[in-house]
Amino acid sequence: MSDQYIAAVDQGTTSTRCMIFNHEGRVVAVDQKEHRQIFPRAGWVEHDAVEIWNNTREVTAGALARADLTHDDIAAVGITNQRETALVWDRTTGEPVYNAVVWQDTRTDAICQELGSRGGGADRYKAKVGLPLATYFSGPKVRWILDNVDGARERAERGDLVFGNMDTWLIWNMTGGVDGGLHITDPTNASRTMLMDLDTLSWDDEIAGEMGIPVSMLPEIRSSSQVYGNVRPRGVLAGVPLAGDLGDQQAATFGQACLAVGEAKNTYGTGNFMLLNTGTEKVPSKNGLLTTVCYKIGDQPTVYALEGSIAVSGSLVQWVRDNLGLIGSAPEIEDLAKTVEDNGGAYFVPAFSGLFAPYWRSDARGAIVGLTRYVNKGHLARAVLEATAFQSREVLDAMNADSGVDLTELKVDGGMVANETLMQFQADILGVPVIRPVVAETTALGAAYAAGLAVGYWSSEDDIRTNWAEDKRWEPQLDAADRERLYARWRKAVTKTFDWVE
Ligand code: ADP
Repeated sequence: MSDQYIAAVDQGTTSTRCMIFNHEGRVVAVDQKEHRQIFPRAGWVEHDAVEIWNNTREVTAGALARADLTHDDIAAVGITNQRETALVWDRTTGEPVYNAVVWQDTRTDAICQELGSRGGGADRYKAKVGLPLATYFSGPKVRWILDNVDGARERAERGDLVFGNMDTWLIWNMTGGVDGGLHITDPTNASRTMLMDLDTLSWDDEIAGEMGIPVSMLPEIRSSSQVYGNVRPRGVLAGVPLAGDLGDQQAATFGQACLAVGEAKNTYGTGNFMLLNTGTEKVPSKNGLLTTVCYKIGDQPTVYALEGSIAVSGSLVQWVRDNLGLIGSAPEIEDLAKTVEDNGGAYFVPAFSGLFAPYWRSDARGAIVGLTRYVNKGHLARAVLEATAFQSREVLDAMNADSGVDLTELKVDGGMVANETLMQFQADILGVPVIRPVVAETTALGAAYAAGLAVGYWSSEDDIRTNWAEDKRWEPQLDAADRERLYARWRKAVTKTFDWVE
């Protein structure tokens, strides 16, 4: 079996990738394609789900071709996906009734406010689902689609429409679509809908009822690692067992081998997401973190995590590239930042979608503060990178407070960890070493591990630990007084973004 490979489809916010991994967990081939970001109005973000499905097929074929492999060489395929992004489609035609409403989209603010006003405020469902009421999560997005697309509610109530996050959409299509595709998800994805009970891993009728979502629309919740079925005979991966499904951040946690209580990783992509494995214990947060499912392997007990979600990190770099034109590509932000010694007193708080952890303020909007005549574009580039590091410090502090144990190091991954200036500043501002693994594509790798474990390609989680290898480590170099002085300025800058949306 070890002359075979595992495929992973990583359906991210900006692009879809297919990666092929070998038994050592090393990348054999990759293909990737970006999809359109659709911004119909301020605060709205959509994706075309059909475009994403077409891209998925294209990159899967592309990755196989690059490695000169066929479906016979693939032992299993796993899926990982941007979480929370919500899609509703017709089960008989296969057509989406509306674009996918993306996790960053803030249109459900009024729905969230209204639900909270029934009692309990933002924490109305928190004890059951681990999440505060926020525009981030899927349930209110589904409610919006049913309320705003002509005839959707009637069709949903008749049983014609189904809901899924992008994992569910891809699995349904890969396993046959209108010809009997599987309508399933896993507990990590389901735990981001606000509709799943964290203890029972089943849909909560009461919450679904309050949100006006027929339970018949919701996918069946399976484990994160088991053989769900085979890819349809006409597909690129015809007949290959589909055997893993994890939300992208949980997949990265798994791929980073954070398999023991107290192990954490931070992923630097479109947004930033720090997850701490809390084992089979569900830890409620008192400091603005989410309680979420980390993974469920086969019929083993559920493993939970605490999560700090940051809406805008790498996407701020994209914004500087696309909306300001200060740089031509994302990596150029580092060259620009290196033209100066420090931020020149400028702080950039990218509250474009409000603020997520640990604040959860939908009324916040972005601000650059501390500007003087001295500040130039180099300082702004530094402030852009530092924003990611400061936001991660806020989340790490919350993790330490919630868990009662101070993290002594942090494993990192994602597109932004190529940026050495950022990684050094991150270590400086956290005061603990930051460690990058050899395979920084931990999201796809985690999905591959989930699939490979289910078919016996890897025999146990020990294989994941063995395969993990350190590439580079950044040690803190800033003295503690400077660290706290800079961080205090950041905390002050954050307060300037509050109370902006009325
Ligand atoms: P996702 O999986 O969320 O789509 P990725 O992990 O692919 O994201 O990371 C892409 C993000 O990282 C983009 O937002 C991009 O702006 C940012 N990025 C990529 N390279 C760099 C770099 N060298 N420095 C800073 N940011 C970068």
